[in-house]
Amino acid sequence: MNLTQRQKIKDKIYQYLEATKIEIESLKEKTKPITPDCSLGRLTRQEMIQEQQVNEHALHEAEIRFNKLKYASGKIDKKDYGICMECEEDILFERLILVPESSHCVSCKQELGL
Ligand SMILES: [Zn+2]
Repeated sequence: MNLTQRQKIKDKIYQYLEATKIEIESLKEKTKPITPDCSLGRLTRQEMIQEQQVNEHALHEAEIRFNKLKYASGKIDKKDYGICMECEEDILFERLILVPESSHCVSCKQELGL
């Protein structure tokens, strides 16, 4: 990976961090406890609970991604960034730009079932 590529990934990490932060905030709004007296509108209470569970799951996933991206942002300048933890080959730039928090190359990821 050359410096330009590294810088591009770095920019992406910050972009993704920002987007994930916004997503977390909006999901937190949606997962606030349902008050018994809230007007139900077109959704029944059961549907609201189901929707909240979906949002809670999404929130959890978003928080995990946020932490991974944070970790990647601290690691990007280190020599071992972008190297597969399993086979120690370079992870493809095309993959890192989409998933900068990758710790494995595509083939190891599939092999390990990650
Ligand atoms: Zn690998």
